[in-house]
Amino acid sequence: MKILVVGGVAGGASVAARARRIDEKSEVIMFERGPHISFSNCSLPYHLSGMIQDSAELVLMEPMGLSKKFNIDARVNQEVIAIDPHDKFVTVKNLLTGEEYRESYDKLALSPGAEAVRPGAIEGINNDNVFVVKNVVDIEKLQNYIVQNDVAELAVVGGGFIGLEVCENLVKVGKKVHLIEALDQVMNPLDYDMVQLLHKEMYDNGVDLLLKERVVSIKDGKVFLDSGKEITAELVVMAAGVRPETTLAKQCGIELGETGAILVNRNYQTNYPDIYAVGDAIEVTHKLTGKKTKLALAGPAQRQARAAADHMFGKSHNNNGVIGSSCIHMFNLNVANTGLNEKQCKQFGFNYDVAYSIFGDRVKLIPGVSPIFFKLIYEVPTGRVLGAQAIGKGAVDKRIDVIATLIFMNGTLEHLKELELCYAPHFSLARDVVNQTALVGLNLLQNDFKQVRVSEVRELVESGAFIVDVREADEFAEGHIVGAKNIPMSQIRGRLDEIPRDQPVYLHCKSSQRAYNVIRALQTLGFDNVYCISGSFLGLCFHEYYLDQTTGRQKIVTEYNFA
Ligand SMILES: Cc1cc2nc3c(=O)[nH]c(=O)nc-3n(C[C@H](O)[C@H](O)[C@H](O)COP(=O)(O)OP(=O)(O)OC[C@H]3O[C@@H](n4cnc5c(N)ncnc54)[C@H](O)[C@@H]3O)c2cc1C
Repeated sequence: MKILVVGGVAGGASVAARARRIDEKSEVIMFERGPHISFSNCSLPYHLSGMIQDSAELVLMEPMGLSKKFNIDARVNQEVIAIDPHDKFVTVKNLLTGEEYRESYDKLALSPGAEAVRPGAIEGINNDNVFVVKNVVDIEKLQNYIVQNDVAELAVVGGGFIGLEVCENLVKVGKKVHLIEALDQVMNPLDYDMVQLLHKEMYDNGVDLLLKERVVSIKDGKVFLDSGKEITAELVVMAAGVRPETTLAKQCGIELGETGAILVNRNYQTNYPDIYAVGDAIEVTHKLTGKKTKLALAGPAQRQARAAADHMFGKSHNNNGVIGSSCIHMFNLNVANTGLNEKQCKQFGFNYDVAYSIFGDRVKLIPGVSPIFFKLIYEVPTGRVLGAQAIGKGAVDKRIDVIATLIFMNGTLEHLKELELCYAPHFSLARDVVNQTALVGLNLLQNDFKQVRVSEVRELVESGAFIVDVREADEFAEGHIVGAKNIPMSQIRGRLDEIPRDQPVYLHCKSSQRAYNVIRALQTLGFDNVYCISGSFLGLCFHEYYLDQTTGRQKIVTEYNFA
């Protein structure tokens, strides 16, 4: 069999390598229009901070290595410019010599990726000081420009994971970074309530975060925004999303799907059965919504590549669709998410609820312990887990991976509650935050207790709601919700007459654990109208801080306390 592959990075190289592992006799040729194959796209931003000093390290395999080790003919600087799906050949252009030639195939795999969007409406978008970050050549160009021009201040447009990683790495080497994002939040896979922790982290690290702002033009060392603001920027990195590379596919009549990406069946075949497509260029099905979507991530690309190569040789895989699991490191925080967020649950009409927990990532006595802020989204009334988001300094990715596994297996809160996870003091708690949050969710689902979220507290304070802080007096003195009454948990049983029975009462402590215990006690004593402020004082401080600083609005806590 003669197999051709278009694109020599995540998906393409994986198809080629898998095909070789299945059949030693097949001829495998891989075309890459850039000068490098098999590079680590995901590590590109780390060259900007010098964490990866030599850009050559980003390239994991040279064509010669692929040829020697795998007998794959990897041709760099060669662009496939046309496909004839009927006579089954491609036309290739050698970008160094201009020469064009044909190569026939039995099976063809497309993994052309996605291009970084450069919105045409922005004046100056193609200026010499405007960069994108897609490959090794891009990052070298950007880094050279920074060094040669001794750039001190710049703008990154787009608050997705590429924009944030570029931002972080440049801040680390002392650059002043303006991060411009059109939405009211960065990292759209997270919900607005959770993302405030990330906004705070960026703010604390000196990033000038400009939300709900659109770039109009780039000129004379400045970026002009539609709000009328002018930002000093010696260069601009455009990270405003990616668009599937479909030009080649369209030209030969390969069908695109409703999202504009290449349409494939569950075996990654296009409408021409001998042409497969994988990676960022294709349309995928979301496992939970059943809707078509796009998902530009490395894991799915590699999984699809293996399945496509296997299918060429007659072996099919289960194709369960995607759920969208991702993570990012940002200054001192790790952030991870999987499945659906609340915005998507609303968009797709799920009946859902959320449970929050703030739990230590390990036992308190172990150095380095830090809280994990965890949000779990589940279907009502089934308890089926739909999604989760976690933020903290510790291993949030591990917690999210547990949830991703559960979602994949159609797991429920009941399963999550019972999940037996490994524990020793260095790694977690005997009841890990994921088990704990399942318990919170089950309590809510079974109407054992009621909650309000930290995002609702401002309204409660402004409307004079009865808020009880059950932390001890010294904790209260260090900072509390304006107007809250302090009845420490240790005194609650002697001060029940201070708690009204004829109006809602909102309880909190530092992270909700004490408040929950008090609520259960009150409920058994006939207090029916008690609510837990999920996230409690710690969550509230993190939620409010960035918004308070940047909008100048009135604080609803006397002092923030992040400890
Ligand atoms: C800066 C950055 C950071 C990222 N970080 C993460 C991360 O942390 N986690 C994660 O899961 N994902 C991450 N990704 C996304 C991940 O890299 C992609 O999802 C993955 O590489 C997609 O694989 P692919 O094969 O579809 O496309 P690519 O890896 O982009 O490869 C496509 C290749 O095809 C070539 N090509 C296109 N058309 C032709 C043609 N006609 N002829 C020849 N060659 C052609 C292109 O030059 C390109 O090199 C990141 C991406 C970037 C850019």
